[in-house]
Amino acid sequence: MTYRRVTEADVGVLETICPGRTYFGEEIHDDFSHDEMVEYGKYAPEVVVEVLNTAEVSAIMKYAYQNDLPVTPRGSGTGLCGGAVPIHGGIILSLAKMNRILEIDEENTTVTTEPGVLLMDLAKAVADRDLLYPPDPGEKSATIGGNVMTNAGGMRAVKYGVTRDYVRGMEVVLPNGEVIEVGGKVAKNSSGYSLKDLFIGSEGTLGIITRLTLKLIPLPKRTVSLLIPFNDLEACIDAVPKIIMAKVVPTAIEFMEKEVIEAAEKYLGKHFPDKSANAYLLLTFDGNSAAEVESQMDQAAQICLDDGAVDVFISDTEERQESVWSARGAFLEAIKSSTPSMDECDVVVPRNQVARFVKYVKDLERIHQIRIRSFGHAGDGNLHVYVCKDDLSDAEWKRRLEPVMQAMYDKAGELGGQVSGEHGIGHAKTEFLRKSVGRIQLDLMKRIKLAFDPKNILNPGKVCW
Ligand SMILES: Cc1cc2nc3c(=O)[nH]c(=O)nc-3n(C[C@H](O)[C@H](O)[C@H](O)COP(=O)(O)OP(=O)(O)OC[C@H]3O[C@@H](n4cnc5c(N)ncnc54)[C@H](O)[C@@H]3O)c2cc1C
Repeated sequence: MTYRRVTEADVGVLETICPGRTYFGEEIHDDFSHDEMVEYGKYAPEVVVEVLNTAEVSAIMKYAYQNDLPVTPRGSGTGLCGGAVPIHGGIILSLAKMNRILEIDEENTTVTTEPGVLLMDLAKAVADRDLLYPPDPGEKSATIGGNVMTNAGGMRAVKYGVTRDYVRGMEVVLPNGEVIEVGGKVAKNSSGYSLKDLFIGSEGTLGIITRLTLKLIPLPKRTVSLLIPFNDLEACIDAVPKIIMAKVVPTAIEFMEKEVIEAAEKYLGKHFPDKSANAYLLLTFDGNSAAEVESQMDQAAQICLDDGAVDVFISDTEERQESVWSARGAFLEAIKSSTPSMDECDVVVPRNQVARFVKYVKDLERIHQIRIRSFGHAGDGNLHVYVCKDDLSDAEWKRRLEPVMQAMYDKAGELGGQVSGEHGIGHAKTEFLRKSVGRIQLDLMKRIKLAFDPKNILNPGKVCW
């Protein structure tokens, strides 16, 4: 597919649609050429437009469609696989300024928002009404539109599920500029194919979300976290399925290793409550009464102690919870700051295979003589593995990285896992998706893409292309 280059005449038209919010040439900030993973390359857009409403999005898409101009939708650009990066140039359509919360409906327990609302602002607005939007991805400055388009996961997925489970309805602008509504405030829906579910996780390739209706739940009254040190990493991870089998339901179960905690301490300049052990589980419980939370917490603590935990630290005040969770939230940035370059693997495996996968990664680290750091959402089998370049030459880095990445994706597949648990495919992971799903599924995905976007102008080169 070849696309037309953006001309000054195109910029003139876009400027009439988005006056004072159309940026061209040197006016474009370098940030728009990459997301959080600069290592996947920089691709400058030819023009950036900041939209304020659905009519503007529709007018831009109509013009782009008629004129064969590629368009890349963008939220906050915190993605980790190049999804919001304009690899074919053209227009970046920034939704960051469509950031109003339109309605909190307490009778239907829903919130209706524009796509550019930041996750942290949404969380606060609903908490002020004693409500909770449960999905809790690590990056709170991501937009809710970006979260939906990547089907973001996060810390609370063990108990509450992922973003997909909370999307009730949306307004979407199609690649040709037409506007549709899918779903609504309704709690259930068996009315034909679920287009809503196709849009969720489609990484801006099928349509542009301009309004969202999300399900909320009552805000739990009490939340407690447990930090549980283990001397042995395998025992640490093996405790997770045992907790689940005991019918204990933590809100979050994260695993972390000492080296990653040390990196976070250095990065944040703050001390972690304990550093004496090699591996840790971080569990959170929530509920409406102290008794309910404490009984779950005690059971989980006992399972871990029986399984080799050295101790159990309770964080029941906001400050103590902040000190452990802020370190957890800084892991990615901390690893990033420890090396000039890195690559990420965001596989998900069945929960009872996490220990095998982590052990396999340790073996790869030793065999290939390359530093690998991992942490992850142990409770839902989603691991974040970072391969670090450190002081390797560019040629040596490439030589060692490729077999390590391929081996990890192959192993995840062998264990019944998937290429991405929550970060998506973007343009950086398309090869791994292709190998993992095979020809028939990839072909189906391409045909779905073309049904929505016959000219392939919306976020081309991503996911299945
Ligand atoms: C420190 C850190 C921690 C993170 N932790 C997590 C985590 O725990 N869980 C997790 O899932 N992710 C996590 N992420 C990844 C990232 O925050 C998510 O992928 C997030 O959903 C991206 O949102 P965004 O607004 O930044 O979207 P962008 O990066 O701007 O875009 C992401 C994709 O969505 C598309 N898009 C954005 N808005 C729209 C729209 N309105 N309509 C159509 N398409 C759109 C883009 O084209 C792109 O394909 C983390 C990232 C960082 C840097």
